[in-house]
Amino acid sequence: MSVSLFMTMCLHDPKDGYYATRAAFNRDFTTAPETSQIFGELLGLWSGLQWMAMGRPAAVNLLELGPGRGTMMADVLRAARTVPGFSEALEIALLESSPLLRSVQQHSLKSERFIHIGDLSEAPDGPTIILGNEFLDCLPIRQFVRWEGTWRERQVGFAAGPELTFGLSPPVEPPPDLDASGDEAEYAPALDTFVDFLSRRFIRSPGCALLIDYGPHSITPSDTLRAYEAGRQVDPLAAPGSADLTADVDFRRLNNLAKQRGLSVYGPITQGCFLSALGARERAHVLARANPMRAEEIMRGAGTLVSPGEMGERFKVIAIASPGLSAPAGFTGAG
Ligand code: SAH
Repeated sequence: MSVSLFMTMCLHDPKDGYYATRAAFNRDFTTAPETSQIFGELLGLWSGLQWMAMGRPAAVNLLELGPGRGTMMADVLRAARTVPGFSEALEIALLESSPLLRSVQQHSLKSERFIHIGDLSEAPDGPTIILGNEFLDCLPIRQFVRWEGTWRERQVGFAAGPELTFGLSPPVEPPPDLDASGDEAEYAPALDTFVDFLSRRFIRSPGCALLIDYGPHSITPSDTLRAYEAGRQVDPLAAPGSADLTADVDFRRLNNLAKQRGLSVYGPITQGCFLSALGARERAHVLARANPMRAEEIMRGAGTLVSPGEMGERFKVIAIASPGLSAPAGFTGAG
């Protein structure tokens, strides 16, 4: 089978898939919202600024893609309350495929009004702000390899023994927009569907999506499929369904697809640059002064989010918006 089908089965199988079975998935990797509340709070303020830039519509959808434990949305909504009129306008929707994580989110957000959706087509119409942290890296990827002059697709299957192994398909026709500049390239088919959704929506009503993920700035990733279990990187084929599978995000293609459809694109810029421009350090100082017993932990968390050696540089932030909206906060002057 292709790597993309393997990824889909490992992550989403309703009985044995990673997201369906791992409630405590936070032990396998630590994401930005689980590192510090400042991450979600700054995204909440950013969303409030976007809402103002849209002309403060009386109702605005706030859609989170893959909310995990619901921690980020709780922090976003706490900060949103400081923007007059914004909380009252919010219609919240969470895109989540895992029933187990849906129930964790129900618990984290028990005092909030929101709906769950399982597919982007169910997202309510109207002005929309979309937030997604570490969502695009779970989209299944196909891996293409040029071998003896022809493109082949990497496969997962059995060779001689009972162990799963990687192999190559017979020659295949690669997708027309595959980056053919090297001998290996990854390709997430779902990026097209995703950008189609954004363009249909953002051309009709004002909207902006903020996506935070890891991946190179402007080259297509190759050979980046990774598996994480209990905080350690493991062999992706060793125990299907028990490890989280991810791949670098192709920001180059995402950027091209969005621009081809007439959307405005800002970034990608590094997470460190983005959060610093929004005042991460200042917010950390304020929080630390208000909670002296937790001051060290608060400063450490903020440092992890922005330091180049930790999450600050590897993670990138990209915004995709309706044409005509002003440049979103955090990107002004970033190009
Ligand atoms: N944003 C969270 C969690 C990231 S893990 C955080 O930063 O902590 C990825 C999340 O996306 C999980 O909630 C997973 O169940 C969800 N997810 C992955 N693929 C999905 C898909 N195709 N449709 C809906 N949700 C998906």
